[in-house]
Amino acid sequence: MSQNFDVVVIGAGPGGYVAAIRCAQLGLKTAIVEREFLGGVCLNVGCIPSKAMISATHFLHRAEHDAAAMGIEFSKISVNMKKLQEWKTSVCDRMSAGVGQLLKGNQVQVLRGEATFLQPQLLQVESKEGSQQLSAKNFILATGSRPIQIPGFEFDEKTVLSSTGALALDKIPKSLAVIGGGYIGLEIGSFMAKLGTEVTVIEATDSILNGVVDPECAQVVARKLQKNKIKVITKALAKSYKKSGSGVDISVDVQGQIQQIAAEKILVTVGRRPNSDQCGLAKIGLAIDAKGFVQTNAQRRTSIPHIFAIGDLVGQPMLAHKASHEGVLVAEVIAGHNRAYDVKTVPAVVFTDPEIASAGMLESEARSKGLDIMVSKFPFAANGRAVSLMETDGFVKMIAEKKSHVLLGVHIVGPEASNLISEAALAIEMGARLEDLALTIHPHPTLGETMMEAAEATLGHAIHVIQKPLKV
Ligand SMILES: Cc1cc2nc3c(=O)[nH]c(=O)nc-3n(C[C@H](O)[C@H](O)[C@H](O)COP(=O)(O)OP(=O)(O)OC[C@H]3O[C@@H](n4cnc5c(N)ncnc54)[C@H](O)[C@@H]3O)c2cc1C
Repeated sequence: MSQNFDVVVIGAGPGGYVAAIRCAQLGLKTAIVEREFLGGVCLNVGCIPSKAMISATHFLHRAEHDAAAMGIEFSKISVNMKKLQEWKTSVCDRMSAGVGQLLKGNQVQVLRGEATFLQPQLLQVESKEGSQQLSAKNFILATGSRPIQIPGFEFDEKTVLSSTGALALDKIPKSLAVIGGGYIGLEIGSFMAKLGTEVTVIEATDSILNGVVDPECAQVVARKLQKNKIKVITKALAKSYKKSGSGVDISVDVQGQIQQIAAEKILVTVGRRPNSDQCGLAKIGLAIDAKGFVQTNAQRRTSIPHIFAIGDLVGQPMLAHKASHEGVLVAEVIAGHNRAYDVKTVPAVVFTDPEIASAGMLESEARSKGLDIMVSKFPFAANGRAVSLMETDGFVKMIAEKKSHVLLGVHIVGPEASNLISEAALAIEMGARLEDLALTIHPHPTLGETMMEAAEATLGHAIHVIQKPLKV
């Protein structure tokens, strides 16, 4: 006998749990199946624990490097790594428990176990307690992704770590080699360096964050990595490693020359792959593309019409807020609303020091599309709040269409870029012009004023930088 639902959601990450809550709000009888933790990668081994570690080590770094200049002196600062881990875990547990309460409060049935399709309408859920079958009118696949392994560097979570292992370290390693200079590797490498670990980043291409962020923003972060004593080796391929004493020696091909890099631990962050090879998806014949993403249409309907898929499982950008947006969208489609995935931008943040945040087009993208654009930057060094925070590295860069002044892209590197970017996302979604930002009164003294001044700078008349008059 199987239990019957209107909707069964598989996976309780930021895609799945949001979809389940929205389905229940819309009056659909909903169940969610999760094999590990409520909140998925994001709340347990991804966004939240990494940001908790970043916040803690930001405090530490500021206390060590900036406080004395403000007249605040400490006799001794030390890190209790075990306590730091306990605090980080308490943050994750609190968030995960909150998801449980929200699901319960919305009458979503939570089923623990591994879900596998037996037939397109029938799901088997296996757990230690036994197995049960569920049938539903609609299914939402939100099974996420996992870290990619590279040959010769298989994760053992002792010497060769994935992001999950690195976020759980309860001793500070003396040294860490990070393979992959993307956002996850740089975020973890940066907070480990602030804890005192000697960090070396091995990156295959010629720059960090290659192709994903504005290159000028990446340069600001690259300089700060250097200042924070993080070594970055570009055009370098990690080939193999062997144990040496209590650590490892890694053979790295740097433009044809083999170099040895010694480290206590290795962190491999070369990307994530969708979990489309699990859950019996091949057995029911679901269409999957060459990169392993489940194929969907703009309503996130798969090749089997009553099965929807969202989040990391369906493609880039593999970000939590994109997954949640799709979760709401799919629930509303199932409830009969006229919805489709139709966004102008998915803002993205890299929580390095300083942070990088972007919304809309890159300058190179706008130029390659042949658009006639105007581009300008406003520096944080000219903003009073940034100066009083002693966080003046970086700028807000704006790209607008020359004739209409419609905002096309915003790229921020600097303090609180993560919080500033939402204004840009809203402006781009609403088709705002530079004047809309420039003529909106922004409170003083705030970092937000840099958004107004960057718009003014693009129009040629920012107050707090000296500009040549521009004919606009
Ligand atoms: C270290 C790190 C830092 C990150 N930082 C950020 C950030 O700052 N901002 C951001 O937007 N994104 C960040 N991400 C990415 C973000 O975590 C993912 O984009 C997001 O979690 C994807 O959500 P999802 O719902 O698609 O899947 P997931 O969060 O991966 O959840 C999928 C869930 O499905 C469950 N599941 C899978 N298969 C089955 C099955 N067969 N049966 C039952 N359950 C199953 C899994 O156990 C999991 O709980 C980070 C990721 C990592 C690793």
